[in-house]
Amino acid sequence: MIIILKSDVTDSQISHILGKVEKLGLKTHISRGVERTIIGLIGPEDVLQVIPLEVFPGVERVLPVLAPYRLVSREFNKENSIITIREGIQIGCGRLHVIAGPCSVESAQGIRAIAHKVKKAGATILRGGAYKPRTSPYEFQGLGEEGLKYLAEAGRECGLATVTEVLDPRDVGLICRYVDILQIGARNMQNFSLLKEVGKVDKPVLLKRGISATIKEWLMSAEYILSNGNFKVMLCERGIRTFETATRNTLDINAVAVVKQLSHLPVIVDPSHATGKWDLVAPAARAGVAAGCDGLIIEVHENPEEAFSDGPQSLKPENFEILMRDLQKIASAMGREI
Ligand code: PEP
Ligand code: MN
Repeated sequence: MIIILKSDVTDSQISHILGKVEKLGLKTHISRGVERTIIGLIGPEDVLQVIPLEVFPGVERVLPVLAPYRLVSREFNKENSIITIREGIQIGCGRLHVIAGPCSVESAQGIRAIAHKVKKAGATILRGGAYKPRTSPYEFQGLGEEGLKYLAEAGRECGLATVTEVLDPRDVGLICRYVDILQIGARNMQNFSLLKEVGKVDKPVLLKRGISATIKEWLMSAEYILSNGNFKVMLCERGIRTFETATRNTLDINAVAVVKQLSHLPVIVDPSHATGKWDLVAPAARAGVAAGCDGLIIEVHENPEEAFSDGPQSLKPENFEILMRDLQKIASAMGREI
């Protein structure tokens, strides 16, 4: 259920409504848009039958949300959500942001060097995994807290925000101390304990689409995070598993447009995991921008041959630079900036 408020609603009218609703055991979320303010109600709504919300001063309309993913849906918020990562980095507005860096943090020196290069090419956020979800337990599992330190130091030195994957609910607190964005990987999209945990912290979350998840399942996973109180969620299309074997995954470009219709949350495209091949990353990235994504996450490595993980899909810094220039042209054709 959402309560749409009149344009001249006063703060005391809003407090009055919140007081009444919260007394019935529901949680509330206020979203103050450019055109209007709305209150979203979170929790079992049957209790509302006892109060005629429509007649409260300041209320224009009360609407049910029909989609199963209520807080995430466009019905809940007609305006695009803008997620502030830190001063100067807002995802979901006119400007696109590019997240770049290696699949895994491998060393202090390695992440520092690549951070300088991606920053110079125009990235604003540095990626690097410290806890890696590898298919085989014998493959590199990440440097853990040491990797978080290297990532945070490199980000600080270059003025880049940072993102890293969290695999385990027990690590959420620790990882929050080091980075600006928590990534939930494709393999954990339906790890509901983890989703609830990141829903309780005040940190932006990059929620990757599960390997074989439908758009509805993906949005329901986002709903877990929002319904636990964290509205700073970005959805990441990273390719899905199909019958096709020529590429690692299939970039579902439709999903970018569909999710923009169904939800107010920003959409990020990951052309690296979507294709699995470095020479397909640029065309997939360009398609993502043309389809209307709000940002990209791209794997870049100084020496892909030696990468501890995902070398075949990592761009060398010089190719990343060329791609950034091409993306600027596409963004400007779309009336946007990078
Ligand atoms: C990654 O970003 O390195 C990663 C493991 O991504 P995904 O969860 O999309 O496979
Ligand atoms: Mn990777």
